[in-house]
Amino acid sequence: MSALACGAACVAPALAEVAVPDTITCVYCDGSGEVTCAYCDGNGAVECNYCDGTGKITCTFCNGTGRIRCAECFGKGYLYNGGDRVKCPTCKGAGSFPCDYCVDGKMFCEVCRGSGERTCIVCDGYGSVQCAVCKGTGKMKLK
Ligand SMILES: [Zn+2]
Ligand SMILES: [Zn+2]
Ligand SMILES: [Zn+2]
Ligand SMILES: [Zn+2]
Ligand SMILES: [Zn+2]
Repeated sequence: MSALACGAACVAPALAEVAVPDTITCVYCDGSGEVTCAYCDGNGAVECNYCDGTGKITCTFCNGTGRIRCAECFGKGYLYNGGDRVKCPTCKGAGSFPCDYCVDGKMFCEVCRGSGERTCIVCDGYGSVQCAVCKGTGKMKLK
């Protein structure tokens, strides 16, 4: 009968107070207080979205063709002079001029200075950012 008399008290878990710390190491940043910048993947730089990382953009003056159409003859290379078809004196019959603003229709990307990359605006080039969960302390409060 003694086993039964013991009853619930015997199976109840020990309720002795275990010292529970009020903070633990932040699981999100592993206690470092910093996490890899998700925006740049830790590189500190991101591909320039203006030039798609190429460092060059399509020339806005010639639309990437590398040639500017002659305004005098509308690109035809010739003009009508009283019914006579004459070679356009402005473009000398070519109908267009090489574009002065680009090389082969490509302009230097001013946004990234031609590097194709921009400093990550989220982490300011550090590659890591303060852990938002622990606010950079590396600790999490237990509730
Ligand atoms: Zn151009
Ligand atoms: Zn012309
Ligand atoms: Zn660029
Ligand atoms: Zn970043
Ligand atoms: Zn953290």
